[in-house]
Amino acid sequence: MLKTKDRIFTNLQGREDWRLQAAKERGCYHNVTEILQKDRAEIIGEVTQSGLRGRGGAGFATGKKWSFIPSSQDTPCYVVVNADEGEPGTCKDRDILRYEPHRLLEGTMIACAAIGARVAYIYIRGEFAHEGAIVEKAIREAYEDGLLGDNAAQSGLAIDFFVHYGAGAYICGEESALLESLEGRKGQPRLKPPYPAEVGLYGCPTLVNNVETLAVVPEIMRRGAAWFASMGRENNHGSKIFCISGHVNNPCNVEEEMGVPLRWLIETHAGGVRGGWHNLLAVIPGGSSVPMLPASVCDDITMDFDALQQNHSALGTGAVIVMDQSTDIVKAMAHLMAFYKHESCGQCTPCREGSGWVWRLLDKIARGKGSLEDIELLEQLTHQIEGHTICAFGEAVSWPIQGLLRHFRDAVEKKVGPSFIPVTQETPLCLN
Ligand code: SF4
Repeated sequence: MLKTKDRIFTNLQGREDWRLQAAKERGCYHNVTEILQKDRAEIIGEVTQSGLRGRGGAGFATGKKWSFIPSSQDTPCYVVVNADEGEPGTCKDRDILRYEPHRLLEGTMIACAAIGARVAYIYIRGEFAHEGAIVEKAIREAYEDGLLGDNAAQSGLAIDFFVHYGAGAYICGEESALLESLEGRKGQPRLKPPYPAEVGLYGCPTLVNNVETLAVVPEIMRRGAAWFASMGRENNHGSKIFCISGHVNNPCNVEEEMGVPLRWLIETHAGGVRGGWHNLLAVIPGGSSVPMLPASVCDDITMDFDALQQNHSALGTGAVIVMDQSTDIVKAMAHLMAFYKHESCGQCTPCREGSGWVWRLLDKIARGKGSLEDIELLEQLTHQIEGHTICAFGEAVSWPIQGLLRHFRDAVEKKVGPSFIPVTQETPLCLN
């Protein structure tokens, strides 16, 4: 359980002012000049030793990602903040943007110092107009206070920030699609390699990080890597914001230690499952693109990258979607598949055609018009999409269906209408 003294996001609920003066009183920008003046190896070393893994979904080691940016100063390089939060069930970055914008700005400044970038872009999804306006005001405050500009925080470094709004496409949360969009083109993922660390924005080395990832960096630099690494468990360090939604008594965003038990998290912070724990049907533990877990697994599982992976799911964005026994699980998944079908960027055939096919089949089954063959076909389809696409969207379509069939095949088969059971020699043809 996270101790109060270890909490990073002390204004996550928005009970206090987000503005610069109040943020400084909460500790933001304390020692920032000293931190910015550290050399690249020292900053990246501290982030690496902290064990911080990206909070945007993939969980890649943050320090390692930073170290991939070439240290040569011959070409410019950029920091890009991925604030295109669009994963269904996820609403953590939104609260950071509107209640803790200065933690994000400070973390982004430190990332600029670490890789030698003088410009950072904050890419915010277009629907976050209110949050975007707050971030823009926070940036203005930072310039007026001398924290940004030609001599950022008196460090001798020049750092400038620009805000760019997306148009609401889910796929722009994928880092290379985000860069395409930022350059003014259609938001479609790029073939990799080369990765953005080598060829990113405008063909230059680019570091793309999630909002939460960057916002925790200042506290790591202030309190030290060992402090952050002391939370959680091996390979899953620090604290994390969990977004708990669905059939709970008190849906909320909460910062907790990595590796807390899922049941404890729901019962302590979200008021428990509606109707009691025994009324739980399933949980999607990391946003809608990860496989669901049945209630029997939820009793003991912990919320970290490795435990969830070992149980054929993922921590993803930490968005916990709770479904109680009243849920029509097939219909719920068909609803999610309609979202994915709509959001496929259309570049690769398995995803473009497959996502629509998956949705149509599942919708047909959910309406009681499917057959056992449709269920088989559905499963085969997911394996033909998975691993055969340019970006991980193919997995985002496939894995939730595989999770559904792994744990709730009975519920799916119950949806199959009797008139669609294939006629065999043993099936009596009773027509009257
Ligand atoms: Fe686009 Fe889907 Fe291919 Fe990703 S997997 S590039 S979203 S078509």
